Formats: sequence, C-alpha cells, structure tokens
Amino acid sequence: MNKDDINSIKTLLSSPKAIVIIPHKNPDGDAIGSTLGLYHYLKSHNHKAIIIAPNDYPDFLKWMPGESTILKYESDTTESDDYIKDADIIFTLDFNSLSRIGDMETAVAASKGMKIMIDHHQQPDNYAEYMYSDVSMSSTCEMVYNFIDMLGDSDKINSDIATCLYVGIMTDTGSFRFPSTTSATHKIIGNLIEKGANNSEIHNNLYDTNSYERLQLLGRALSNLKVIPEYHTAYITLSQEELNTFKFKKGDTEGFVNYGLSLKGVIFAAIFIENQQENIIKISLRSKGGFSVNELSREHFSGGGHTNAAGGKSDLNLSDTIDKFISILPQYKQDLKA
Ligand code: 5GP
Ligand code: MN
Repeated sequence: MNKDDINSIKTLLSSPKAIVIIPHKNPDGDAIGSTLGLYHYLKSHNHKAIIIAPNDYPDFLKWMPGESTILKYESDTTESDDYIKDADIIFTLDFNSLSRIGDMETAVAASKGMKIMIDHHQQPDNYAEYMYSDVSMSSTCEMVYNFIDMLGDSDKINSDIATCLYVGIMTDTGSFRFPSTTSATHKIIGNLIEKGANNSEIHNNLYDTNSYERLQLLGRALSNLKVIPEYHTAYITLSQEELNTFKFKKGDTEGFVNYGLSLKGVIFAAIFIENQQENIIKISLRSKGGFSVNELSREHFSGGGHTNAAGGKSDLNLSDTIDKFISILPQYKQDLKA
C-alpha cells in the first residue's frame, strides 16, 4: 500500500462512513481478531461500523471485546444484506478471493461500497479498489496494526484493539514460532502488551478451555495418524461418526494437523475431516521448508493459503480422498525430500 493509497484512505475516513468489515468463512483467530481490531479503531473515529462473518466460529473466540456485536450472515441474512447494500466502504480481511465468503459473495460483489482488502495470503484476486496485500506478513492482525500506524493513529490503539490484534498474531504464528514471525512482529507484540493486551490471560482464554470430549477426540485423531516415510508425510483422518462419538463442536479439531508435523523427519502433514452436512471432506495442510501446500491445495483440493499452511476440500468420500492424496504424492517426490 503506497503513500497515495494511504492518503486517499485517510481522506475517505475523515468523515463518518457506513462501514462493513468481513472475515472469511469459518473464521479463525486472525480473522476475528483483525476484524474486531479494525472495528474498535473505526468506532473510535465515529464511523458506523459492523462486522459480518459468513458463519459461526468456535467458542474459544467468543470472549473477545466487541465479539457479541458480530452478525453472522448465515443466520442474520436480511439485516446483513441491508448493511452490505448501504455500505460506503467494505473492508475484507484475512482472505483475498470473494469465493472465501461463501453465500455472501453475491451481495458483496453487487455492493457499490468501496472495497479495501487487508490480507496476507498468496495470489490475491482483483476485486478491491485498495489492496494492502503482503504475503510476508505473519498475520492480518499485524497488517491492521501497520495500517493504523500508517494512518498516523498508533496512539489510538487502546486495550480492546491491542487484545484483538494480539489474538490473531498469536494464533497465526503458532504462538510466535512459525518462520513468518519476525523481529517486527515481536516489536508489535511488545507494543500491544504496553497498550493493554494481557498476554497470559489471552493465551489461557484460547488454549486452556479444552473440554474432556475434545481431548478424547485428539486421542482418536492421534491413533488414526499414519506416516508415509518415503515422502516424509503424515496424515490424520476423522470420520463424521468419530466426530459424533466425541460430541464434536466447531473448533475442536483446530491445531490437530500440527501433531503430524511434529514427528521427527516429517515435512508435510495433512488432516482430512468428514463433514456430512456440507457433503465434503475438509482438508488442512501444513509443511516445513520450501514445499508449498498452497500450490498443492490449489492444484488438487480447490483451496489455497500460504506456503506452509493451506486448506482445501474434496467432494470424494473419505477413503477415496485418502487414495487421491496418496496417489498425488509421487508428483512431489523431489520436493518431499527431507
Ligand atoms: P486451516 O487449515 O487452518 O483451515 O487454514 C490454513 C490456511 O489456509 C489459512 O490461512 C486459511 O485462510 C487458508 N484456507 C483454509 N481453507 C481454505 C480454502 O478452502 N481455500 C483457500 N483459498 N484457503 C483456505
Ligand atoms: Mn491469517
């Protein structure tokens, strides 16, 4: 985002506007954290702002300041359509293709609201008037921090904004350990703590709220873990029946895929989760080093993301999806050398 863009946005935001802020479908900590961080900032400038999420998100995000104001398009459709139609500005955060917002796509594409993208995923689509797109960033939350800073308003960051932005930086960096974590990330985190983010409490709110059933489901996932040593690959499956047995709730499988990647010698890990309601297998992919799960997901599983973390889906059943997964590995033999 260059100086001219920033100046234009500054002018645009110099009088109160009707603003809609949108995260991607199945929003995670970075999606909810960044939209809420931006929401609190825009509210402090007297804009009429509202966050509309495509659908619901896990309970472990539901303690965040301002969270109760978020509309869900899947259940608040009529009200949301009105906001989208009448918006002066639509911020799209933590995604870069309108296909990532599911049923909201039509309404958002049709709205005359000026679109501003803030995102760190690869290969952005070209739907926004203003794009702040940077794949080197740890998280969209780090970018929202920079965005507020570029607008000359870092002194406006209060404890609510700081708390929300801290959440997304922490979750998208795997608690500050992924290679996308830079010294700039740590400096921003330091500033957020100074502005009132309670790091220890945030960590507890996100990671120490396990249900007994979730831990049992993790046990099942780990016993389903398979390794293909030849390709330094590990994968986990969870069928709908298994999810039901352990009373699966949204968010329960968050982070499971990382256990595969924690195996010595493994550089590529996947989890395949059956979703009977949507009639798909939801896939999460993770890698270490240069092997791009973004490319693999785009090519074979209608998805995308980052080099080392991506998602996708399959319309085949669970066992056929696994067969397909195993059958494509030889194409990547060169890249999957540890
Ligand atoms: P996760 O595996 O945690 O759901 O997602 C990992 C990364 O890939 C996230 O940055 C997420 O936004 C992205 N991602 C997940 N699912 C999809 C998908 O179906 N399509 C695309 N383009 N990106 C996805
Ligand atoms: Mn993100």
